[in-house]
Amino acid sequence: MKMMKNVALPAALLALVCVCEGVTFGQLCQGNPNNDKRTSDTWGQGHYGAPRGSRTHKGLDIVCDDNSSVYAPFDVTINRKVIVYTDPSKAAINNGIEMEGEGLCFKLFYVNPDKTSGTVSKGQRLGVMMPMQSVYPGITSHVHVQMCDNSDPTVHF
Ligand code: ZN
Repeated sequence: MKMMKNVALPAALLALVCVCEGVTFGQLCQGNPNNDKRTSDTWGQGHYGAPRGSRTHKGLDIVCDDNSSVYAPFDVTINRKVIVYTDPSKAAINNGIEMEGEGLCFKLFYVNPDKTSGTVSKGQRLGVMMPMQSVYPGITSHVHVQMCDNSDPTVHF
């Protein structure tokens, strides 16, 4: 009896820790099973807080080749379609999706959504990566992950 108690308690604590802070994104992009991050290229860096001229980068960039399928990282409810830019010269990659799941609200930029409401199960297709090379030649094509409250998404990867 004593031994069982000693085993059961740490397991219960571990479960509690996972529920509180352990939300991790599943695979976002076809061909990138480990959610590899954009590091550095001629257009800039992909980490949260990277400089973008006079502003800072409010998201995290996950490598995704143009025209790849983009998947739900966990079960999500889609809130709306997002318009990324006001600049018409970037119209080719101007779409994104805002969604919620696992207690998180976040946006994915540069994704053409299959649908703009309803639910999508983990691993099912949300949409398609837009042709980023046509706007930023030579960039590491990527999906931009941005939390709705602009907090750092890196802890979830
Ligand atoms: Zn980005």
